[in-house]
Amino acid sequence: MEPPAVLLDVDGVLNPLKRGKGYRRFTATPEAVTYRLWLNGAHGAMLLDLVEATGSELLWASYWCGHANGWIGPRVGLPSLPHVPIPRRPADGSFSLGEWKADRVARWAGERPFVWFEDEPDVAEALARESGLGPHLLVPIDPVFGLTADHVAIAREWLDAQGGA
Ligand SMILES: [Mg+2]
Repeated sequence: MEPPAVLLDVDGVLNPLKRGKGYRRFTATPEAVTYRLWLNGAHGAMLLDLVEATGSELLWASYWCGHANGWIGPRVGLPSLPHVPIPRRPADGSFSLGEWKADRVARWAGERPFVWFEDEPDVAEALARESGLGPHLLVPIDPVFGLTADHVAIAREWLDAQGGA
């Protein structure tokens, strides 16, 4: 059986709106579009400790997809990671941002257990409407402040309670 997945969003999670302690300014230009980011070099170690201690696997779950490995990972102390495929949302307005991400994550995960660090406000409701999912925990993140040690502790407790590796 596959290990539990730890799904990691970028904007609003690793890259908050407000600069907190330990954050530095970076620029990223995936596909020639320039983004200005706040990133925290301590995030990588926190997340790697989490997956090592719980026998889980860390993946990107972000519109950054594989671009996160070039522009985000090295700046927060993460190695190259696989990613959940999250293509651009259809332009016809048929999905909100949270609905689209929840739908793609649900299709990818199936019955595999997962923890998801995500800031999109309507994602919890959208995820609750998905069927056929295995055990999962959404850890909602305030995009103003981003990921904290408290969020990682919540994930750790849940993963430990799953029986672990
Ligand atoms: Mg986000």
